[in-house]
Amino acid sequence: PAKPRSREVPVVPQGVSRDQFLEALEELKRELGEENVEVNDKPLKDGWYMEHPNTHDMMTILDEEEFVAGAVVYPGNTDEVVKMVKWANRWLVPIFPISMGRNLGYGGAAPRVRGSVTVDLGRRMNKILDINPEDYTCLVEPGVSFYGLYEELGRRGLREHMWVDTPDLGGGSIIGNTVDRGVGYTPYGDHWACHSGLEVVLPTGEVIRTGMGALTEGGENTWGVFPYGFGPYSDGIFSQSNFGIVTKMGMTLMPNPGGHESFMYTFPKEEDLGPLMEIIRPLRISTILENVAQLRHVTQTIAASGLPKSHFFSGSGTIPPEIIHSAAAASPVGDHTWAYYGMSYGPPHIRSYKLAIIDAEFSKIPGCRKIDPSTLPEDEYFWSRDRIASGTPDIHELRWVNWAPNGAHIAFSPVSPIRCADATKLFQLGKRIHEKYGIDFMPAFIVGLREMHLIVEIVFDRDDREEKERALGCLRDMVDEAAREGYGEYRTHLVLMDQVAGTYGWGGGALGRFNERLKDALDPNGILAPGRCGIWGGRYRGRGWEM
Ligand code: FAD
Repeated sequence: PAKPRSREVPVVPQGVSRDQFLEALEELKRELGEENVEVNDKPLKDGWYMEHPNTHDMMTILDEEEFVAGAVVYPGNTDEVVKMVKWANRWLVPIFPISMGRNLGYGGAAPRVRGSVTVDLGRRMNKILDINPEDYTCLVEPGVSFYGLYEELGRRGLREHMWVDTPDLGGGSIIGNTVDRGVGYTPYGDHWACHSGLEVVLPTGEVIRTGMGALTEGGENTWGVFPYGFGPYSDGIFSQSNFGIVTKMGMTLMPNPGGHESFMYTFPKEEDLGPLMEIIRPLRISTILENVAQLRHVTQTIAASGLPKSHFFSGSGTIPPEIIHSAAAASPVGDHTWAYYGMSYGPPHIRSYKLAIIDAEFSKIPGCRKIDPSTLPEDEYFWSRDRIASGTPDIHELRWVNWAPNGAHIAFSPVSPIRCADATKLFQLGKRIHEKYGIDFMPAFIVGLREMHLIVEIVFDRDDREEKERALGCLRDMVDEAAREGYGEYRTHLVLMDQVAGTYGWGGGALGRFNERLKDALDPNGILAPGRCGIWGGRYRGRGWEM
């Protein structure tokens, strides 16, 4: 982590003088309206998830002043985004688009380059442009959150008809989460796979539509039902990149399956992980296990109670296993180590067919316990999983962030096959490196279809420098070691983007060079989100920006 910075006001991007920056912002105010351009000249305020700042990362692992905006701008429509982009090219000011800025654990609302002007799209561009109950599709702007769409379905009497797939927290933007390739937990959990067609403002100010929206006339008719259109499929380059600003996106919604039923199994020992993976893989690939489900370690279950670590343990260092298990005694996990949360969909006779197979297979793990949901109190974590897996946004998941005082978190999230050897290797790697750095290990395996993301959240005190240094050291070691074993991250925090991009180095860094060529062609002045996902424009490359 960098040394604490003193605060010049406003924060000015490197290479631009203070006077130039203020003059440029005056020009922008004339174009977009005084009230839509805010200089970041006040002390930073963290707020909380629902009232999050758009100036910085409220869960920062560095000094808070490190990744911080110079100003925040609120365009009201695509034309104003175009104006904003042209302005950035005239003044060579870096800009950083966010939809809502709730990307907590991955950088929040912060820009990668200090002093960038944050383009907060969500504040004014927040319309649901279409909901089509026949096709189960919608068309949204960046400021539409999972909660927002869910509520609108309710207002239109469509909630029983179709579901919104939501991540663990429902307050984020559908576009923001999807372009960062986030996940939810119904069968529609791979959000990027479920989107259909984009409208994008390119870094030089041209506007394009992809998929069927690109038709000269009447593209709206098929925008949401066919993602590819004609010719090269370009959507991919607008996800986890800095090649364009997405102003509209089509999204598919899930039909109400006519019934649903959550289930939970627990397994006694850490060593059960491997054999369990061998059971989960064929069931998940054949969609007997239907949703993006979670296999969570008991430490995370305790943390999800919302009680701080200090409630269970007053010593120093990591929480000892016997204390974890005695703390878990009152929870449905009891003396077990793993909890699997899943959901079965469809009418009762369809569900009972699948649930019987799952029960027979899971029961092959000695000591496996099926939890009876009717025994669980209303505020038990199980019911949060139940809501999320059935299309109801929630914020219960925030509770484990309380594990540390001034709790913040950052994730290690490698991808692996759903296999005994891989799960065991990654688990051991994470556990060993957590022990080395004295950090509590809270793994959860998020099972996609043929792959799983291991999500390891490190919870830290955002006011404790030493703790933050340990957390970052632990992450950097895990990223490197995992990469040496053939496991890459599916997504990462701003601070790790260069490192993670470097792990995708096959062919002497061929993919990175390809991305740089695209960047230079699409964004010759390098104004758009420099450094995002390790991609730097020519103006920045090789000048010490990478970390
Ligand atoms: P934003 O912050 O607006 O966008 C994310 C990034 O995408 C931005 O930084 C920007 O670089 C880029 N971007 C955004 N909009 C645009 C645009 N229009 N054009 C171009 N680029 C753009 N995430 C999950 O996916 N699944 C989970 O289950 C999950 N669980 C979480 C649990 C907890 C407790 C916490 C704290 C976080 C969790 N997250 C999860 C992470 C995060 O909260 C969500 O992914 C959230 O939806 C991202 O914020 P957002 O939607 O507001 O996106």
